[in-house]
Amino acid sequence: MEEIKKVKNIVIGAGPAGRLGSFELGKLGEETLLIERKYIAGTCLNEGCMVVCALTDISRFIKIFKRYNEIGFIDGNISIDYKSACDNIKKTQIMLRRLNQEENESVNNNVIYGEASVEINEEDKILVKVKLDNTNVLQRENVKNKNCTIYEAEKSFDSYWCKAIYSKYRWSRICFDKQ
Ligand SMILES: Cc1cc2nc3c(=O)[nH]c(=O)nc-3n(C[C@H](O)[C@H](O)[C@H](O)COP(=O)(O)OP(=O)(O)OC[C@H]3O[C@@H](n4cnc5c(N)ncnc54)[C@H](O)[C@@H]3O)c2cc1C
Repeated sequence: MEEIKKVKNIVIGAGPAGRLGSFELGKLGEETLLIERKYIAGTCLNEGCMVVCALTDISRFIKIFKRYNEIGFIDGNISIDYKSACDNIKKTQIMLRRLNQEENESVNNNVIYGEASVEINEEDKILVKVKLDNTNVLQRENVKNKNCTIYEAEKSFDSYWCKAIYSKYRWSRICFDKQ
């Protein structure tokens, strides 16, 4: 039988919402576990805002260069090295993932990588099962020797869905009983 660890708060999904939500819980001194299935900082850092902003900055720079070239302020040609741009974006993502993890750990939160699934058992307890991803370079040693781990949460927050997968009553209780 798998050992079930008790944790006060579990946040599932380490996108901007989950990463910041768990950080704030940690700052309040609340015991918090943050679970991410792939990359910390979610869509924003890894596929969305950050990538689009970096590419937009490059295209803006090229546009300004061409304009100044046309009016004779500067001479020469300019071209984009797309591979180098992508390599540098990837390097920045790796650095920022590490910083995002350290930020959460700085308030004593645990961050683990794996696919989480939630169930409410017959005793009305919140059980979070995590299929661990030990290929993630940021996975810490304390879970690395396992494939799967189970936690019992006093409160669990799904930060990727903003919608309850529990009953309405339970969700409102989880969200609002801290106020
Ligand atoms: C191309 C693009 C450009 C964008 N540009 C901007 C912009 O310029 N400005 C802006 O404000 N917004 C932008 N956005 C939107 C922004 O990325 C999202 O609003 C933001 O990422 C949402 O954050 P979130 O934490 O709610 O969800 P997400 O970032 O999606 O994070 C959810 C996390 O939960 C994890 N997860 C899901 N299920 C599980 C599970 N079962 N177990 C463990 N982990 C799980 C996922 O892997 C993910 O990391 C952009 C989005 C895209 C796609």
